[in-house]
Amino acid sequence: MKNNRVLDLLYPPRCPLCGQVRPFGAGAACEKCLKKVEWVREPACMKCGKPVEYEETEYCRDCVRLPKSYVRGFPVFVYREAVQEAVTAMKYQNQRAYADFFADCMMARYGETLGRLGIDGLVPVPIHRNRRRRRGYNQAQVLAQCLGRRMGCRVYPDYLRRIRDTEPQKELNDRQRLENIKSAFKIGENRIKLKQVLLVDDIYTTGATVEACTRVLLAAGVEKVYYTSVAIGQGY
Ligand SMILES: [Zn+2]
Ligand SMILES: [Zn+2]
Repeated sequence: MKNNRVLDLLYPPRCPLCGQVRPFGAGAACEKCLKKVEWVREPACMKCGKPVEYEETEYCRDCVRLPKSYVRGFPVFVYREAVQEAVTAMKYQNQRAYADFFADCMMARYGETLGRLGIDGLVPVPIHRNRRRRRGYNQAQVLAQCLGRRMGCRVYPDYLRRIRDTEPQKELNDRQRLENIKSAFKIGENRIKLKQVLLVDDIYTTGATVEACTRVLLAAGVEKVYYTSVAIGQGY
C-alpha cells in the first residue's frame, strides 16, 4: 500500500483516454472521457457484437461473409480515437494500468452476462514467442489476467500457442486471411479439459484471428467458445 502511494507520486495515475493526471482517489478515467468514447451499443450483430445500423439486421456483413464458429462476442468499444490510442499504449508502452481499466470496462458492460455463461477458463489470444520477446509481454494475456481476477475465473495463458508469426495482411480478403491465419495456432497445454472458453483479445477486426483460435479449441474438445475484446473495428 505504502509502495503504491510512493509510485502514485512518482508516476501519478493518468486517465487512459486523455492522459490527464487524475486527482487522488478519483476513478481511473475522467467522466467526460467515458461519455465521449463510443461504447458498443444496440442494435448489434448477434454473433460478433459489432454495432449494426438497423434493428432488423441480425448479423453484420463480416459475419454473413464469413460465418463464425464461436457462440457470441462481447466487444466493449468501437475502435477509434481515444480508445485506439489507449489500446496502442497498452500494447507498446507496458501500461498495465490500461489493462486494469479495460477489464473494469468489460465488467461494467458485460459482467453480469459473462457471469451467467458458465465459463470455466479464460484463454488469451497468443502472440508468437518472437514478438513476445521483443515486446516483453502479451497484452491479451495481461488483459485476461485482469479480467480473470474480476470474474473469479482461471486464466490459461498457454492453452493456445501461436506457432507462426503472420502479420495481418491487409491486401487479402476475409477468406484468404482466414486460410493464412488458420495454421498459425495450435493447442499448447491440453491436460485440463475446458468446456466453455472465453477468448480474450485487445482488438477484433474481421474476426479471422478469433475464428482461427475457435476452430482449434473446438477441434480439441472445447464445447463452447465466446470472445471478449476491448474494441471492435467499424464497418457494418
Ligand atoms: Zn480523460
Ligand atoms: Zn458480426
